[in-house]
Amino acid sequence: MNGAVLTIDLTAIASNARRFGATSPGFMAVVKADGFGHGAADVARTALAHGASRLGVTGVGEALELRADGITAPILSWLNTIDADFSTAVAADVELAVNGVELLDRVSEAASAVNRTARVHLFADTGMNREGASPTDWPRLCRRAATLERRGTVAVSGIMSHLACAHDPTHPANVEALARFDKATRVARDRGLSPSLRHIAATAATLDIPGARFDLVRVGAGLYGIDPARRNRLRHALTLTAPVATVRDVPRGTAVGYGHSHSVASETRLALLPLGYADGIPPSAANTAQVQVSGRRCPIVGAVSMDQIVIDVGDLPVRVGDTATVFGPGGNGEPTMTEWADWCHTIEHELMTRLGSRITRRTRPVHPSNRPARHGGRVNTVNRTEGRHDSLC
Ligand SMILES: *Cc1c(COP(=O)(O)O)cnc(C)c1O
Repeated sequence: MNGAVLTIDLTAIASNARRFGATSPGFMAVVKADGFGHGAADVARTALAHGASRLGVTGVGEALELRADGITAPILSWLNTIDADFSTAVAADVELAVNGVELLDRVSEAASAVNRTARVHLFADTGMNREGASPTDWPRLCRRAATLERRGTVAVSGIMSHLACAHDPTHPANVEALARFDKATRVARDRGLSPSLRHIAATAATLDIPGARFDLVRVGAGLYGIDPARRNRLRHALTLTAPVATVRDVPRGTAVGYGHSHSVASETRLALLPLGYADGIPPSAANTAQVQVSGRRCPIVGAVSMDQIVIDVGDLPVRVGDTATVFGPGGNGEPTMTEWADWCHTIEHELMTRLGSRITRRTRPVHPSNRPARHGGRVNTVNRTEGRHDSLC
């Protein structure tokens, strides 16, 4: 532990969740990568209590951790490698996305081994050329799924895809992808499948492409306050602070840190913070990002080291032990994650998921003034029917 503290405000997560619960028939809270660094189980419980009906993760391991934590809501794992522990996953009621016949056969065998039916979602590529089955492989995948469905080893609950350009709602690739998704659905139905859940929208499409919402939306980024259109419609939940470790007064021209990449223009005071790239501060923050101390924004000067950064606090009466705010929701003039992403030429997603293990995490529960969504109390069942979600709008 390095003295830095990451505060996770679950009230912000609850507020964002309610917004998504109100816009869509079914709402899957995406809690991959430890809930984008916020704590997967805490985010999952909060989202489920405030409008989400399901959870989404990248891998079986993440899904099983949520089950081990006592979470019983439907969970979908979508990037499944051939060596994953499908028997354990199926036995734990984890739904699996499948993008090829070989993988589907493995899942089917695993389901037989534990005497269960695996719930699967067939993943179609609609132009992203990433994890979905190609249009060439799709008919064969559907045919095989229909065969296995008749045998009772798998049940196709959903058809899914993912959009490459949803952050730009007017991008022609979106229209094309939705047309391909329709075609993929027709092919699936022609092969005898009748999936009840069609889903393609993540945060950006959920917010700005209403025609992409279908039966279910898969929301990650937005749950954590990231608005892909930069319209600030959501709340960030993270605040990162660090104590000032040392302070020194230096004369004009003093060079700072590795490589002397910065020299101070005039006499000033430098403060040291115990946070570096091992804690998730990108090296590109050097001489560009800011933190807030004593109510004022101060620049990071010199290189970002593995464990430390230096800030120029000017004439502020900063003392050892004072608290610097690296980023927060922005309500008190502190830098936001969005600003940090711009300063470091990255995206908020990356900053959130990189925060290191030396930082102490403090999770603030949902403020009691936030009423749970109306169905918050009974979303924790596996067989709940989607598409009839009673929204808050
Ligand atoms: C990460 C991910 C999501 C969630 O996307 P956001 O933009 O973070 O909302 C949805 N679907 C898939 C397949 C993903 O990989």
